[in-house]
Amino acid sequence: MALSPWSIGVFTSIDAGLGVHLDVARELGVPSIQLHTPHAAGRTPAAAEAFLKKLDQYGIELTCVFGGFDGESYADIPTVEKTIGLVPAETRAARLKEMKEIADFARLLGCDVVGLHLGVVPHDIKSKEYLDVVEVTRQLCDHAAKNEQAIHLETGQETADSLLQFISDTQRPNLFINFDPANMILYGMGEPIEALRKVGKYVRSVHCKDATWSDQPGKTWGAEVPLGKGQVDIALYLKTLKDIGYTGPLTIEREIPQEPERQKAEIQHAVDLLTNLKASLGTK
Ligand code: MG
Repeated sequence: MALSPWSIGVFTSIDAGLGVHLDVARELGVPSIQLHTPHAAGRTPAAAEAFLKKLDQYGIELTCVFGGFDGESYADIPTVEKTIGLVPAETRAARLKEMKEIADFARLLGCDVVGLHLGVVPHDIKSKEYLDVVEVTRQLCDHAAKNEQAIHLETGQETADSLLQFISDTQRPNLFINFDPANMILYGMGEPIEALRKVGKYVRSVHCKDATWSDQPGKTWGAEVPLGKGQVDIALYLKTLKDIGYTGPLTIEREIPQEPERQKAEIQHAVDLLTNLKASLGTK
């Protein structure tokens, strides 16, 4: 089933991650989802088959499987630096192995896109730490290439310029970007629209999420807020996606799983907002 351009989607979870359950996506009536990987015990061929059956029954297309690891914490920005993704050296080898398993699970789901938060890439591009992160990313990309998959790096933990440098240094043709405008604000890594224009040629999937700036950008978190209520400027975000020629899905993320009713209501509101903005831009 081929998706229409700018197909609206929602970020979902099974037993890990901050997304809604697939049943909520069905109730919302969206045509596409991204999925946060389940824990290892849930990444079996039988689980993949059961999930695919549900997707087929619901008429929903899976567009990206996101990796994630035990031990990660988004408690504050310094903790992110220590715990997220493939950057922390102590867990890197084990997480690379697990990320390859997640890619293989995505393949069982027929999904050719695997996303992740790589972590906070070291800033000194001549340092061993930086080159090690380049190397592990190459290994992940090469594994994904064997599965005919692309790797999409979630934005926010780097500035647009640093991300461009990193992609250029990694030199892998299947390395792209999942652009999250709210993360640019939450992490204090730059104005999202300007960043999107800079990295546009690599953007192959996006999150529709909103946020307000911290009073100490880069030191403390901004706040994630419902779509349209923050400082991204969602109308300009969509117009910019149009300008850069983006035609992939628009995946809504609202990371408040502790309040499921509110989460669902706010995602419904986001679906309506995006539907109206799409119409106003002539991309129904
Ligand atoms: Mg995101």
